[in-house]
This record gives sequence, C-alpha cells and structure tokens, in this order.
Amino acid sequence: MAQKLVNVPIKVVFGPMHCEWRLTAPVEDAGLAVYTRRITGRGERKFDPWSIRAAFLGLHSTSELTRFLQTTGVFTPYDDNFRNLVEWQRLICKLMTTNPQKWPTLAERFDKRKVTQILRNSTADCSFLWASGKPCARLWASYTLRAMVLSVQVDHLRGAKFRFCMKTDCGKPYEVTSAHARLYCSQECAHHASVRRNRENRRRERQIR
Ligand SMILES: [Zn+2]
Repeated sequence: MAQKLVNVPIKVVFGPMHCEWRLTAPVEDAGLAVYTRRITGRGERKFDPWSIRAAFLGLHSTSELTRFLQTTGVFTPYDDNFRNLVEWQRLICKLMTTNPQKWPTLAERFDKRKVTQILRNSTADCSFLWASGKPCARLWASYTLRAMVLSVQVDHLRGAKFRFCMKTDCGKPYEVTSAHARLYCSQECAHHASVRRNRENRRRERQIR
C-alpha cells in the first residue's frame, strides 16, 4: 500500500551541547586552526539553524572562529576535534546546491571523513509542538553540524535555490527569490565590486595614455 504523504510545517531548533574549545597552536590563518574540545553539558540557549549556518559560512579570522565555536558548542558528536574551516565551508555550500540523494557522491571530491560526518548528522529527533501558535513538527539538533545539515535539507524540501556572491573575497550564498539575475549577496557587496571595477578601469586608462 502506498504511504500517505502529508505536508506539515517544520521547525528546526538548535539547542547546543556546550563544550570548551582549545586551540592546539596559535595560528593567524583560521583555515589552519585546530581545536580540541571538552564537553561541559547542555545549555539553555536556543539558536536558529539558518542564522548559525550564515554565521559559519561568514567566518574569516581565527578569533571569529574561536568565538563561534565557544558559543555553538559541540560541532559534531563523532569527532572531538575541529579543523579545516575552509573545507567545511565549501562543503556546506556544496550541500546547498546538491540534491541530498547525491550527497554520498561528494566523497569523491571532498574529504571522505567529512562527508561521512555529514551523512551521520543528517537525521534528527522529531516531536510535535502543539502549545503556541500553529502546531508543527520540530526537528531537534544538539550539534552545530547537525543543525546546519538539517537546515539545508529543509531548504531542499521547500525547493529553495542558492547562488554564491561574485565578490572575490565574499562568496556567501544567497537565496534566488526572483527571476531577476543578481550577482552579489548584498547591496554592500555590489557596491564594493562596482567601486573596485571603476578603480580597475581608471588604472587601465592611465596605462593606455
Ligand atoms: Zn557578498
């Protein structure tokens, strides 16, 4: 018998498992930073997984990364280290534009262990919320990677499409919400890119003269 499919509103809640992160060696480049952790217990604060994902993809410096990890707690329960920020960021971006059915094939192009972590973090505890407002199904995440992976899956469920900012040092994802072609994630990036372009043009003109 065919299973009945029902549409229900979904809410994803991220309630971090706190830990202390320790940087194993002082480094300037956040991409080279390696951290180890010690779990301290569940906190009271709840976060919106979409905001956490955006914050994670926008991390540049080691100090930003340290602050992020201390706030969001355990990244994944299956690894007590955190390293390779840049590859994690690339991988999360790739998930946003890849059908979840094809996620296992990403192991051919990315670190296999990271892809395994993603697949292991792609399920969630589900409960129903009846109390306030509109009842909904609640997916619960205790770990940062799980919260982000769940938010990406829900985005795929709702058919969201993403592009990435063309400004060279940005590259942040933005949701495509209209047919109007956009190249940058924000007005700010569009403005910066146009200033940079004008400067380049003026420099080139000077060289020609
Ligand atoms: Zn941008």
